[in-house]
Amino acid sequence: MTTGATMTDDELRDRTRALLEEVDPHEVDQYTFRGAQFDAGLAMIHFPEGKGGLGLSRGKQAVVDGVLREAKVPYHDLMVNPIGIGMGAPVVLNHGTEAMHEKHLRKIFTGEDIWCQLFSEPTHGSDVAGIPSRGIRDGDEWIVNGQKVWTTLAHVSNYGMLLTRTDPDVPKHNGLSYFVLDMHAPGVEVRPLYQITGEAEFNEVFLTDVRINDDQRLSEEGDGWRVAITTLMNERVALGGGGGGKGGGPIRSLIDTWNTRKDDLDASARASMQDKVSRLWIEAEVLRLTNQRAKELAKSGDAGPGGSVGKLMSAEMNQRIYELTMDLLGPDAMLHEPGYPMTRSDEAHAFGSLTGSFLRSRANTIEGGTSEIMRNILGERILGLPGDVRVDKGVAWSEIPK
Ligand SMILES: Cc1cc2nc3c(=O)[nH]c(=O)nc-3n(C[C@H](O)[C@H](O)[C@H](O)COP(=O)(O)OP(=O)(O)OC[C@H]3O[C@@H](n4cnc5c(N)ncnc54)[C@H](O)[C@@H]3O)c2cc1C
Repeated sequence: MTTGATMTDDELRDRTRALLEEVDPHEVDQYTFRGAQFDAGLAMIHFPEGKGGLGLSRGKQAVVDGVLREAKVPYHDLMVNPIGIGMGAPVVLNHGTEAMHEKHLRKIFTGEDIWCQLFSEPTHGSDVAGIPSRGIRDGDEWIVNGQKVWTTLAHVSNYGMLLTRTDPDVPKHNGLSYFVLDMHAPGVEVRPLYQITGEAEFNEVFLTDVRINDDQRLSEEGDGWRVAITTLMNERVALGGGGGGKGGGPIRSLIDTWNTRKDDLDASARASMQDKVSRLWIEAEVLRLTNQRAKELAKSGDAGPGGSVGKLMSAEMNQRIYELTMDLLGPDAMLHEPGYPMTRSDEAHAFGSLTGSFLRSRANTIEGGTSEIMRNILGERILGLPGDVRVDKGVAWSEIPK
């Protein structure tokens, strides 16, 4: 039989159809079907065989997803566990032990275990390498104290990717360690933070004398920044790579709104709007193809700095798409659907309304790294331009003025 690495698209489609015949997704719950998908190597296609993938390029996932979409597989996928699938799985694969692979990868994919990312702190978001939360060793355990903020889905998560300072007396990037945190451990307190949408999709997380066994450490001591980089690069791919096929994702909302509203416009407004809608459609298609090309090259969770291209472009484009959608809605854009304010869903971005999506899109240029930071990364790591000013370079973290 053809193994993953040499599989053609047709063979991949056949394999996906065989899965659908073997386990009917309309007859079993999502965990059972997703588990079978994982076992068949069709979950995260760029992962190694036996670990949810077939060792193919990341872009081949679109072939599998296309067949599943046609079969109307009832799973709301990335909205349920976007951080686990987009970031937790590649981090565990690349930096975790075999025991961690066994324990986590399948349950991340099925959605049995929801994951969150515990990086940002009140004083440090863009400059996350400077975080002050502290982990102090105590025998086989670490005792962690500090506060995280903007932690998406922490309220429904079983596990968190925790970055914390374990050595304050070396330069900031060298004194961090990275752990898998049990979110139900004593001392972990999660409090909701409400966004402009009225939803509390993210949280404050307080860590008070939280004990973590050393076997939950994903990095070498002091080498957490390297694991953080894997996380952040995969986050940018996950944030920039969505869309659900040609004409899918946010641009679909704009096209649908255009189709229902265009007849309300007079001739000149209609011509002007049509021009703007067409330009955004082209931009969305260019982004989709750019992401597709990047994914064809990427393997095994090694996302590289190129993910920042898609992240930057999709964040800014989403905002323009929803701004134009609001223009098309006219005065109706002033009305927010019932449910505002103060909802707390177990999904990321759970609202269905256009106005909700418009408000949510304001966060796109902040979450996962701001657009300014994306431009810095592209400038320095891809274009090779001179670096940002770093006055704390080489200075022990404890010596940096706070
Ligand atoms: C919806 C949403 C979900 C999030 N989810 C999570 C999560 O799950 N886990 C998590 O850990 N974090 C999460 N975040 C936090 C996010 O990563 C940070 O908000 C982001 O990195 C920016 O950090 P900050 O808010 O501290 O802003 P700051 O870093 O204080 O930035 C303030 C402003 O200064 C600019 N700036 C900062 N440094 C530079 C520089 N060197 N050059 C040029 N401009 C600069 C920024 O672009 C920004 O405009 C989330 C944020 C949002 C909005």
